[in-house]
Order: sequence, then structure tokens, then C-alpha cells
Amino acid sequence: MLSFIRADLSQLVAYTPHPGGAEGHAATPEHTGQIDRLDTNESPYDLPDELKQKLAWAYQHELEANRYPDGGHAALKAAIAHYANDSAQVDWVQPEHISVSSGSDELIRSLLIATCLGGEGSILVAEPTFSMYGITAKTLGIPVVTVGRDEQFQIDLAAANQAIAHSSSVPVRVVFVVHPNSPTGNALTEAEIEWLRQIPDTVLVVIDEAYFEFSQTSLLSELPLHPNWVVLRTFSKAFRLASHRVGYAIAHPELTATLEKIRLPYNLPSMSQTAALLTVSQAETLMTVIPTILQERDRLYQQLTTVHQLRVWPSDSNLVFVRLTSDAVAASGRSPEAALDAVFQSLKQQGTLVRKISGGLRITVGKPEENERTLAHLVVALQAL
Ligand SMILES: *Cc1c(COP(=O)(O)O)cnc(C)c1O
Repeated sequence: MLSFIRADLSQLVAYTPHPGGAEGHAATPEHTGQIDRLDTNESPYDLPDELKQKLAWAYQHELEANRYPDGGHAALKAAIAHYANDSAQVDWVQPEHISVSSGSDELIRSLLIATCLGGEGSILVAEPTFSMYGITAKTLGIPVVTVGRDEQFQIDLAAANQAIAHSSSVPVRVVFVVHPNSPTGNALTEAEIEWLRQIPDTVLVVIDEAYFEFSQTSLLSELPLHPNWVVLRTFSKAFRLASHRVGYAIAHPELTATLEKIRLPYNLPSMSQTAALLTVSQAETLMTVIPTILQERDRLYQQLTTVHQLRVWPSDSNLVFVRLTSDAVAASGRSPEAALDAVFQSLKQQGTLVRKISGGLRITVGKPEENERTLAHLVVALQAL
């Protein structure tokens, strides 16, 4: 290893980006047919042609490619504030409550820099959850405290309280929750929300609402009561804009002002700002496919419950999490990891990409025909087990 690189980084495993597979291939070389990318929870629907044409027009006639982007994001913040107010039926969200970033991933890093860097704090996460919190913390040398979840993926609140109250030399400064959670799809319960409400205001509570548009569950309306809460949202999922990398935070103006200090000056390319502005103004139109996605989610869930080798959990999101039953693992004569990997690899060979994570498979809800193939391919994979 190069001797000038921080030693702790050699322990770190990079997040495996899309397209999936540790080998970096979208699918195995022998697979030449249809590939269903159901591994990153994007919307299966691209932007409507009309919006793409508007973006193309903006690129041609409005964008000055030689100029830096608007580094203040003024227009976009105003539009997001308007959408955020509508989304939670509130009227207090102003541009000063918003910070915009290159994907919410950037905000996760900025929040960590603002709170924990330099040995000031550690973070608390309940596994299984979104892996970027832990990965990003480790890149900054920030300790990660983990607690578990029960059979229904509800957070072990006693352990969490214990970790916050009695943490060692590095106190817990940030708690991350996803509402609804990824990879498991469950929204926070009333008991979990009650727990968030009583976390001391010396601890930042990050509520990641990446899947809000699917679940319609939000804690935004309570934000004014809790200056230590921040809500993260993204354009990468329901807004169909993953390629443009736009995320935002809604928080107390003192926190957003701090985030603005930390971020890089031109963090959001002009075309991404244009695309986000356009889609947020067309939110109603873009969201017309959500009922279809939710119906498909319910259908996929129902059909998966009839597959006896699988355990499947209810989902509030556009994804479904499954694990192999212990009987299915035993019948396969393989270890649990090897059995799961065999199913995952078989799906991949058949052209269905899902995410193998936390001892299970996280399956994004796709278009109806994709979901049909998911079920058919799963049946083949399980028969071969
Ligand atoms: C997809 C996702 C995001 C979005 O990340 P971006 O960087 O905005 O694309 C954030 N949080 C969770 C939990 C997600 O699943």
C-alpha cells in the first residue's frame, strides 16, 4: 500500500455501484437477452419524451456550457420549498431551510463533517439499513455504533438508548434512520417515532425520506419542534432523475447554513439543476405512475408469499425484501450464504439483477412485465437450488 494513504482506509470496502455485480458486469457474458435492473430502487419509468425534449431545448438554447453553474441554487431551493410544503401540507418551509447537493449521498457526508469529524462524535445505525451511512463515516475516520432490529426489522430501542446514554469516549452525535427503511421496506413505527422525539438535542437525528413519494410517510411536519432533526430527500427515485444526482436536506436554518459552508461551491451541474427544476414543477404528472408501482408491489409481495422457500416482508416502499427459509437452505445442502448466492447468480444469469444484501435479496418493483419475469426467474432459481 502507498505509505501516504491513511492506514484505516485499507480496511474499507467501496460501495459497489450500479450496474451490479462484484465483477462489474451488468450480467453474465452468456446472457444476451433482456436485462431487468431491479437492484437500485430507481423508478422503472424514464422521463416522458416531452420533458426530455424540454431539457434538450434548454441545453441547446439556454445553457452556457462555458459558465459555472448557479452556485447558490436559488431557483431550485425556492421550487423545492414549494414542493416540500405541498408534500407535507405545511407552509413554513423556506429556501433557508433547504440545502441542495449532488445526490443525498453528498449531504450524508456534509452532515458527518458538520457533526462528528475530528474525534467529536460517532454515528448510530440500526442494521440492516442503508450502507452509505457507515461507509461514509468510515472514510472520515468516524466510528460507527450499530444496534440490531427484531424479526419485523423494528429497531432495538433499548440497545439504541443504551448506546446514546453510555457511549464511551466518542459520544453518539448522529442517529440515522430511513423512513421507510432500505433494504427492508418498513416505515418507522409509532414507537420508533416516539423514540426519535425524545432523543436529546445534543444528537442530530437524520430522517432519510428517499422513498417518501412511494410511502407518503413523512416527519417533515414535526421538524419545527425539533431543531436537531433533518429530513433528507432525493430526486433519484420517484422523480426519475437518478442520472442527474440531485438530493436535498430540509432542516433548521443554522444547520443548512453550516451545510452550505461545507459543500463544494459548484456541487450541482447546470443541467442537473435544470432537470430538477423541471421535474419538481411537473411533480403531479410524474407521480401518476406511483399507484401502478404500488399495485405491482402488492402483487409481487402476494405472489412471493406463495413461494414456500422464501420469507417475504411487507413493504411501504418500491422494493421487496426476501430471505430463504431455513428449510430451503437445509434442503439445498449449502451454507446460508452459498444458497443465497446461488439464487442471486441464477437470477443474474436469467437477466434479473437484484441486490444481495443483509442475508437476503432486495428486489426493486419494476414494470409489470419485469415483475412477471422476476417471479418466473425466482421459481427457476429455487428449483435449481
Ligand atoms: C436511493 C437512496 C438515497 C438516494 O441517494 P442519492 O445520492 O440521492 O441518489 C438516499 N437514501 C437511501 C436510503 C436510498 O435508498
